[in-house]
Order: sequence, then structure tokens, then C-alpha cells
Amino acid sequence: MDTMSKDDLLNTFETAHSSGDALMVTRPDLPPLEEFTAYLEKIWDRKWLTNNGLFHRQLEERLADYLGVGHVSLFSNGTLALLSALQVLRIKGEVITTPYSFVATSHALNWNGITPVFCDIDPLTLNLDPARIEALITPNTTAILPVHVYGNPADVREIERIADVYGLKVIYDACHAFGVREGRESILNYGDLSVLSFHATKIFTTMEGGAIVTNDAKLKQRIDYIKNFGFADETTVMAPGINGKMNEMQAALGLLQLKYVDERIRARERLSRLYRELLAGLPGLTLLHRAPEVEHNWAYFPVFVEEGGRDALYGALRERNIYARRYFYPLISHFPMYRGLPSAVPENLPVAEAAAQKVICLPLYPAMEEADVERVCGVVASVIKSYSYSEPESVI
Ligand SMILES: *Cc1c(COP(=O)(O)O)cnc(C)c1O
Repeated sequence: MDTMSKDDLLNTFETAHSSGDALMVTRPDLPPLEEFTAYLEKIWDRKWLTNNGLFHRQLEERLADYLGVGHVSLFSNGTLALLSALQVLRIKGEVITTPYSFVATSHALNWNGITPVFCDIDPLTLNLDPARIEALITPNTTAILPVHVYGNPADVREIERIADVYGLKVIYDACHAFGVREGRESILNYGDLSVLSFHATKIFTTMEGGAIVTNDAKLKQRIDYIKNFGFADETTVMAPGINGKMNEMQAALGLLQLKYVDERIRARERLSRLYRELLAGLPGLTLLHRAPEVEHNWAYFPVFVEEGGRDALYGALRERNIYARRYFYPLISHFPMYRGLPSAVPENLPVAEAAAQKVICLPLYPAMEEADVERVCGVVASVIKSYSYSEPESVI
């Protein structure tokens, strides 16, 4: 457990953030400020701030083009998009999902009065293990909510097969999977709906933001009603909708970010490959599997440290002003609102439990220097070596 108080931690973060040599796990990419102010001037002139404004419409079209998908419905954040996706498909009862994700995945079910049923993950991809789904299906199961963790595609074909056999809907939490393709096909084209996040920590950011992706024009229409209180026209409300609308400032930023996203993904790839080269073969350290046939977006650089060594590494990095993060630890199934569920018992989730104990995400963002990667790897190597060989007891 951390011995620092919350205030100490915040102070450390703020000092570290402004001190220059600190490395945070990620840092948002922004376009040149002048480019953004030019868009702001247009918004100020038009005074159309939200409700399907010009930038909003442009961003929906350009994103659909860029991503290679049918339709994009923008949202003010990914969580509201997830909540709305479940509403749009009228999901109820039980939904099979992964405990190895950001907590919003299950919270979206919870807020819809749906029971999450936790399914274990595949040891290679850390995505929902399709071989374990069928045993969890009951008469109350209505859908599967997988996550493409770290942007690695879930086993979309096998999940589709199971969903077809049992008549289940599939909603992908694709918040990590912006731009990911498999055999030239966007990974967002699988399932009934996919949900994106454009939060500050994601590879494409509108500060806060999100989207639902679908290839069904009718569904796109329904999504757009639901995110605007359910209004179909001035006097018709067709569903108990919500306010999930993205505003014009967010959309303007998105239009600018699209210009830069490819070069940023390339920078991430270059840094990720350097990490992989420098960390290859360290005993007790496993790197994330990245399938060669996938066009990755290189979101996140997780590594997995053998039993007990992870927190020692986390502490050693922090002492050196390197703020790695343990995504995803704790598992969602450990949080108080979920741990009483029958499917949350650790015996049901051995692979996820083990991954959560070993994982640490190292800093990765386009503005990082190669020397930064070398510095992080130096610390990782020294901790791993001392842990594996000389003094194993001291760090447990
Ligand atoms: C970021 C994220 C979310 C939530 O998105 P917000 O835009 O922050 O609301 C949900 N699921 C996963 C897997 C995420 O990484």
C-alpha cells in the first residue's frame, strides 16, 4: 500500500509535472495553439456552440472516413457513449464482460441496472477469453461487452459466433482501439456497436469526448436521438434520452487532432519498438503480445513483472521521477460494488487476477525522447536484475 497521503501524492505529481525531468505515464498531444484559436474565432462568429454544429458534423464525417466505418455519433465523453450504447440496444439482465479494464466498463452496466458477469481473459491478449463465455450464459444473458485492451483486438470472430448461437448483442468497449485494423478492416466494424473515448489520456483526444460507431444508419439515428434527451423533432421525444452531446470546441479540437494523429501513432510505434528492443530477454519480464497482422495504434506500453516484483519496480521508478501506472490493477471485480457478485470470485478469474498483480504501464507518448525510453529501461533492468538474482526477499 502507498504510505503517501493523497495531498502528498498530488504535490509530488504537480512538482514532478513542472520539473522537466519527470516522465508521466502519458502526456496529451495538442495541435499548435494558433490553429485552435482560428477555429475558436469561427465558433465565436457563428455562436452555434452545440447541438450538431458545423464542426460536429464535419468531425463525424471525417472520423468515419479516417476510421473506415459507416457512422460515427460523437459524445461528450466515452462513459456517456457506453451508457447510451446499452440504452440504444435496450440491453437488460446480465452482460458478460471483462474484469481487466477501466472501471467505466462495468459502471456503464451498473448504471443501466444490468448485472456484470465477469469472464476470465486470454493469457496472451488479455482480452475476454471466448472459451470461457458459454459457461457463463444464463437465460438472463442479453449481451457481451468485451474490451480491446491496450488496443489489441479481441477475438471478434469467435465472439460473433457465440453471440449468433445464443442470440446475444455485442457492444465493444473500443476506448483503446482508435484506428486499429486487422487485415485492413477496422476493428470497430465488429459487433453491434463500438464505443470510443477521446479523453485526455487517449491517443486521439478532444480533452473529453467519445463516440459510438455503427454501420447501421437507423441505429445511428436512434443514437443521435438518445444523446439529445430523446428528441426526434421539436415536439417528439421517442426515448428517455440523456445529454451526451459533444460541443463545438471539442469537435474543433478533434478536427485539428486528425491532421496529426498518424504521425503521432508512428512516433508511438518507434518508441514502442525501442522499448521492446531494450527490454527483450530480461528474466522475469514479459512484454505484451502484439500480433504482426494487426495495424496497431501503439496505445500504452504495459510490461508484466513476475510475482511480487511489480510494486518494487513501481516504487523504484517513482523515486526517479518516473510515474508509471498499474493499469489494470485492481481488477474491476475487486471494487466494493462488484466484489459480492458470484462471478467476481478470484477462482473464476485466475488469468485476470495474475495479470493485475504483474502489470505496469511504462511512460509512452509521442513527445518522449529516445533518451527517456533508455532512462526508463535502465531503471527497469536494474530493478529486475536485483529482484531476480541478488536479493529476492528484500522486495516481496
Ligand atoms: C477511457 C476509458 C473509458 C471511459 O472513457 P471516458 O471518455 O474517460 O469517459 C471506458 N473504458 C475504457 C476501457 C477506457 O480506457
